[in-house]
Amino acid sequence: MKVGEPEKFIVKGKRLDGRKLDELREIKIEAGILKRADGSAYVEWGGNKVMAACYGPREVHPRHLARSDKAILRCTYNMAPFSVSDRKRPGPDRRSREISKVTREALEPVVFTNLFPRTAIDVFIEVLQANAGTRCTGIAAASVALADAGIPMRDLVPSCAAGKVGGEIVLDLFDVEDNFGEADLPVAMIPRKNEITLLQMDGNLTQEEFEKALKLAMEGCIKVYELQKEALRRKYGGA
Ligand code: UDP
Repeated sequence: MKVGEPEKFIVKGKRLDGRKLDELREIKIEAGILKRADGSAYVEWGGNKVMAACYGPREVHPRHLARSDKAILRCTYNMAPFSVSDRKRPGPDRRSREISKVTREALEPVVFTNLFPRTAIDVFIEVLQANAGTRCTGIAAASVALADAGIPMRDLVPSCAAGKVGGEIVLDLFDVEDNFGEADLPVAMIPRKNEITLLQMDGNLTQEEFEKALKLAMEGCIKVYELQKEALRRKYGGA
C-alpha cells in the first residue's frame, strides 16, 4: 500500500468525500470575469479553481501560421506553481502540452473557424488550484469563455470524467480517487450531436466497465452543459 492510500474507497455506498457513486462534485461557473479578455470564465469544480480567457479572432503571430481558409484555434493549458501540494515547476512540460493539444481538439469541432480566415482565436486556461479533473474543468471553462467572446459555435463543449475506484465505476474522481484508483476516463462532448470530442483513459477497464464509465461520464457532461448554459444566461439573460 502506498503512502496516503485509503484502505477502502467506498463505505456503505458512499465515497470518501461523502458523494454517491454517480454524484458530481459541486460546480460553480461564472462567465465574463476578466475585463481585458474578449471572453472569459471562472470555474470552481470541487477543489479545482480554473480561469479561462479567450482572445480573438485576431491577427496571427507568427504570420506564417495563418490559414487562408479558416481561423486557427490555439489553446494553452497552464498549471500555477501553487496549484498543487508539491510545488509545480513553472512553465510548459509534457503534461501541459498534451492537455493543451487535447483541449484544442475537443473544442475545435464546435467553432466556426471558416468564418474568420487568416486570424487566430487564442484560449488560455490557468489552473489556480488543482484537485483532479483539471483538463475537464479547463475544457468546460474554455467553451464558456469562447461563447462569452461571441465566437460563433455549434454548441458548448461540456466535459466530465468517470473512473473506477474500489472496484466500482464512479463519476468525477477527486484527488485521492485519482491517485489511488484503478482508472480515470475523461470525456468531452458536443451534446447537440451526441458526439465525443475527448476520450482518454488512465488505468484498466474491462469492455463492460468501459461502456458503463463512458455512459456515466456522458451523463456528467450533460449536467455540466446545463451549468454552462445557466452561467451564460445569468450574464446575458434570455431563455
Ligand atoms: N497533479 C499534481 N502535480 C502535477 C500534475 C498533476 O499534483 O504536476 C495532480 C493535480 O491535482 C491533478 C491530478 O494530479 O488535478 C491529476 O492529474 P492528471 O494528469 O490526471 O490530469 P487532470 O485529472 O487534472 O485532468
